[in-house]
Amino acid sequence: MIDFNGQPADLSVYEPTRRRVREFLASELARGSFKPWQVTWTTFDREFSRRAGAAGFIGMTWPREYGGQEASALERYVVVEEMLAAGAPCGAHWIADRQSGPQILKHGSERARREILPRIARGECAFGIGMSEPDSGSDLAAVRTRADKVDGGWVINGTKVWTTNAHQVDYLITLVRTAPAGERKHEGLTQMITPTNVRGITVRPILDLSGHHEFNEVHFEDYFVPDDMLVGEPGSGWAMVTAELAYERSGPDRYLSAWQLLAALVDRIGPQPDRHQSVQVGRLVAHAMALRRMSTVIAGMLDRGANPQVEAALVKHAGTGFEREIPEIARLLVERAGGSGDAAATRFDEALRQVTLTAPSFTLRGGTREILRGVIARGLGLR
Ligand SMILES: Cc1cc2nc3c(=O)[nH]c(=O)nc-3n(C[C@H](O)[C@H](O)[C@H](O)COP(=O)(O)OP(=O)(O)OC[C@H]3O[C@@H](n4cnc5c(N)ncnc54)[C@H](O)[C@@H]3O)c2cc1C
Repeated sequence: MIDFNGQPADLSVYEPTRRRVREFLASELARGSFKPWQVTWTTFDREFSRRAGAAGFIGMTWPREYGGQEASALERYVVVEEMLAAGAPCGAHWIADRQSGPQILKHGSERARREILPRIARGECAFGIGMSEPDSGSDLAAVRTRADKVDGGWVINGTKVWTTNAHQVDYLITLVRTAPAGERKHEGLTQMITPTNVRGITVRPILDLSGHHEFNEVHFEDYFVPDDMLVGEPGSGWAMVTAELAYERSGPDRYLSAWQLLAALVDRIGPQPDRHQSVQVGRLVAHAMALRRMSTVIAGMLDRGANPQVEAALVKHAGTGFEREIPEIARLLVERAGGSGDAAATRFDEALRQVTLTAPSFTLRGGTREILRGVIARGLGLR
């Protein structure tokens, strides 16, 4: 059963944290360190991440001995929500904070925890995700990159693709096949921590629709990984990849990617919208509020130890659809407003251009809509 009737998480107790993040972001904006309409989770700015780390906004739920603050997941939710809504350039810590760090904390060796986690929390260590391959995206269990056991570790050979920021990060967590698939094709997969600055790894750029270099193809050739850089036991890769999904799919990152465009649209239309503009903006804002409520209900469920995978898939499906709709609606509404050339118009034009070029990816990254529909249908007992 899908249940969104529970109480949303109570975030009001974290108002002081919310104020602190807003002050931090206001001072970053004042020093001109970012443009709010950039793509927030992939815009890579090591200096911004260092300052965010120094302010205590990275790895905040982790134990103090590994550089964390021992804050609650809900307090982190507030920080993430503010960062994304502001359009902050989180790319140099996003993946490490959201998924690589928590995986290393839970399943990594003590050496990996001690060497890597404090550096992530300081905003000094960036991670990428090495899952997709040329013939394996939605069907991740089909990965062919393999690692063979050798004395003291493993040797990887194979190719990954669509690896965001692989040319800038310090490490990837790479999903490889360490044993043939058993009765189920999900068996025999393992995740490994793979530094990008050692022998045996070559990163080649893939330019996206806007001519930007964020994606890469990554080749591993006789690349050595010591035993203590595995994440979990050999063969545990699939369980680990899927266990993180409820967190990854239900957060504010799944409906706030175009938030700055919506804000710019409201400013661009100005205080006297016509009826059509009022209806359309009202509808978008109502959807945003409904999504936020669904997302905070899930945050509350996660906080109570539940595993709401189907609800999370629904939020990602609805949230990324909403994000994609914003540029389409904005484009049509502003034609009606006519051009003016002032600051609000310039901000709107830049935000619209940026979001229009990146919006097609919103419904692909982290699992396509078709795959999510399969998860939801299974959760409803329909397949
Ligand atoms: C912006 C962006 C960033 C990304 N970053 C990374 C990254 O850092 N690391 C990484 O490893 N990957 C990354 N990816 C890759 C992403 O995870 C894959 O693109 C995605 O999983 C889809 O895989 P695919 O491209 O191989 O498409 P395919 O799996 O070939 O799918 C093609 C089409 O077929 C549909 N389809 C596939 N299987 C089914 C099915 N069973 N039922 C119904 N329809 C189906 C899909 O929905 C899709 O429309 C990124 C992608 C994007 C867009």
